[in-house]
Amino acid sequence: MDMKDPFANLDIKDCQLCSKAPTGIDSHIVPRFISKTLIDVLIGGQHQLRFTGNPNSIQQDTLNIPFLCDECEKTLNKYETLFAPRYKKYLENDPYDLEIDEQTYRLLVSISWRTARLLLLTQPPKQAESLMAPEKAWREYLLKETEDVGPFHQYLFSARDFKETEIYASKRLSRTHLNTLIGTGVNGFYGETQTKQALVNHLGPLILCGQMRDIEEGSPAEAEQWSNFIVQPGSVIPGLPRNLPPAFVDGVDAHFEWALTRIDSMSKAQKQKQKKRADKHLKNTLAYRLIQEDERIFSSKEE
Ligand SMILES: [Zn+2]
Repeated sequence: MDMKDPFANLDIKDCQLCSKAPTGIDSHIVPRFISKTLIDVLIGGQHQLRFTGNPNSIQQDTLNIPFLCDECEKTLNKYETLFAPRYKKYLENDPYDLEIDEQTYRLLVSISWRTARLLLLTQPPKQAESLMAPEKAWREYLLKETEDVGPFHQYLFSARDFKETEIYASKRLSRTHLNTLIGTGVNGFYGETQTKQALVNHLGPLILCGQMRDIEEGSPAEAEQWSNFIVQPGSVIPGLPRNLPPAFVDGVDAHFEWALTRIDSMSKAQKQKQKKRADKHLKNTLAYRLIQEDERIFSSKEE
């Protein structure tokens, strides 16, 4: 979702987290370090560039509006500052075990909370209804009024969990897209017996799902596929790929199909032009390596 346009004119006077103080300087909904680090690591800080096969998915900056008071902004900023170097390390190193300490966990909850709150302010009440309980649970946890988030778990997936076979069989997944998208949406994940609704935040190679509800509970086996991805303080995201719930793979694929520019809608001349630009500017970058990996995965699919 492009969050810029529909939300830019919101006039938010009071802190959305503590509601005790007026809003101060503008806050980022998705932390600024995410897009900044992505650009630095993926394309060597060449901010003016977009790259082939993925024309739209790196945003230079993310939505920035009055949202929090100075005190709450400072608290969330502290979590961000502590996590930013480890996020960078995770991007640079493959494989790399990512530890989720309490501050990082609070940061993840805050990202789910910020986006839930923003959607509550902007969506029609009927659509926003299922966000109300999770938003409250996440907010109370962030304010340290509760010990945990109750049933509204945070699930953290990685682009590295996607198998080549899953990408190959999908409609729209690619290594490039999976590693570079920043975006928010409410998504339904339709399993065989379970239907899960979650608030999804694509943070480059990390995909954060804030549990909203299970529309259908499903079998214990299907529930367990998901439970392996719940994060808590002390969790470790292993550097090696894990087995994803099939409903998650399908759900992300469906979201990409809706959100991304169709690569195959580009003309041959456009593709060649992009390729030339990439060869010239992106050699030796991580982005270039991802594009090459995609070319290899999909080479047998070319018409
Ligand atoms: Zn506040």
